[in-house]
Amino acid sequence: MLCACLSGKGRKVILIEKNEKLGKKLFLTGKGRCNLTNSCDIQELFQAVIHNPRFCYSAFYTFSNQDAVDFFENAGVPLKTERGGRVFPVSDHSSEIIRALEKKCRANHVEIRLQEKVDSIRYADGKVSKVKLHGGRELEADVIVVATGGLSYPQTGSTGDGYAFAVDAGHTVARCMPSLVPLRTKEDYIPRLAGLSLRNVELSVMQGKKTLFCEFGEMMFTHTGITGPLVLTASAVLGERLSEKELLAYINLKPALSEEQLDDRILRELEANSNKQFKNVIPVLFPSTLTPVILELSGIMPDKAAREVSHPERKGFVDLIRHFPVTITGTAGFREAIITKGGVSVKEIDPGTMESKKIKGLYFIGEVLDVDALTGGFNLQFAWSTAYLAAQAISKL
Ligand SMILES: Cc1cc2nc3c(=O)[nH]c(=O)nc-3n(C[C@H](O)[C@H](O)[C@H](O)COP(=O)(O)OP(=O)(O)OC[C@H]3O[C@@H](n4cnc5c(N)ncnc54)[C@H](O)[C@@H]3O)c2cc1C
Repeated sequence: MLCACLSGKGRKVILIEKNEKLGKKLFLTGKGRCNLTNSCDIQELFQAVIHNPRFCYSAFYTFSNQDAVDFFENAGVPLKTERGGRVFPVSDHSSEIIRALEKKCRANHVEIRLQEKVDSIRYADGKVSKVKLHGGRELEADVIVVATGGLSYPQTGSTGDGYAFAVDAGHTVARCMPSLVPLRTKEDYIPRLAGLSLRNVELSVMQGKKTLFCEFGEMMFTHTGITGPLVLTASAVLGERLSEKELLAYINLKPALSEEQLDDRILRELEANSNKQFKNVIPVLFPSTLTPVILELSGIMPDKAAREVSHPERKGFVDLIRHFPVTITGTAGFREAIITKGGVSVKEIDPGTMESKKIKGLYFIGEVLDVDALTGGFNLQFAWSTAYLAAQAISKL
């Protein structure tokens, strides 16, 4: 939509969308509020990109996060910045962003065709020639911009069609994987914790003795595994390792306390309640759903009097709180993934224009490319920046 509305100068622009309305995925973004960019320094934009940040150089410098803010504010959408630099419409409605883009498209005479699916793109003599629509009709074009998104949330229309167009054009497509995605876990005590949200915990993911990921944050248990901001970030950082084999993870439930401080705290509880049963002493330390699970995993007899808990038992308990074990078996898949990692290889795309280096007049923008970023508005910023670059290049043709 952004590319279409900015490409119109002196040429006929047709926006083809297979859904019955524009921006179905955009509507869902930011839990319906659309976290459209991040107010961070431009350097941090690059740091938020996990794969191929260098490819984003021209894109981010030509149409920066500030440019995105200015564009939408000038289009009549007042914006606000929240925790972590996340930018949203003041109204908290993603529909405002879609409406602003649609209005710009109409103002710039973009012909919007809904419920039209592109089946393939035709190339001749190293140039684009036509798009073939579902049903057999063809449209001639000297410029074709592929903005088909990735494979995540396929119900929104992003079903990976652009990868096939790229392969037909002779492009390489890097293996696609769900990213920013909930993780599946093995232990049968995890579903019992479904709905429990933990703030300020530390998640470490290991491969043998090597720590692959270790960060603080917020996470949640689900019926099939774990999710929440910390887990989504972990999924993006772990990438392909998630499809290789099981990974052992540990949650430090009390990361603000050192091992010694935690031991002191537990000792104090046990001493202050020495005649109470162990199971009646520890609830003060944990959310109620977690207590029975912790109790089971501790191996300490629940009815044991607090004063009888031995030193090794207490040490083991401290260790359990600092290393609550979770085995990650994989991801929740594309249906639940915020983005797709992988896509059209950026080596074959001109980073200054988004034009294919193989086929003249063919452009790729947004998530279809092999670039993925963290949560916080960075994926949409990449989509806006690449859309702008393509539009700028097309306008100069
Ligand atoms: C639940 C959820 C929340 C998110 N929240 C945020 C957020 O707050 N901030 C952020 O930065 N990112 C967020 N993202 C990621 C962000 O939405 C995407 O990175 C971004 O939408 C990618 O834009 P795109 O234009 O490349 O592709 P898409 O938004 O996927 O759009 C592709 C469009 O192409 C259409 N299409 C596909 N194939 C064809 C075809 N053959 N013919 C015709 N039309 C076709 C599709 O129907 C679709 O409308 C979120 C993603 C999800 C799933």
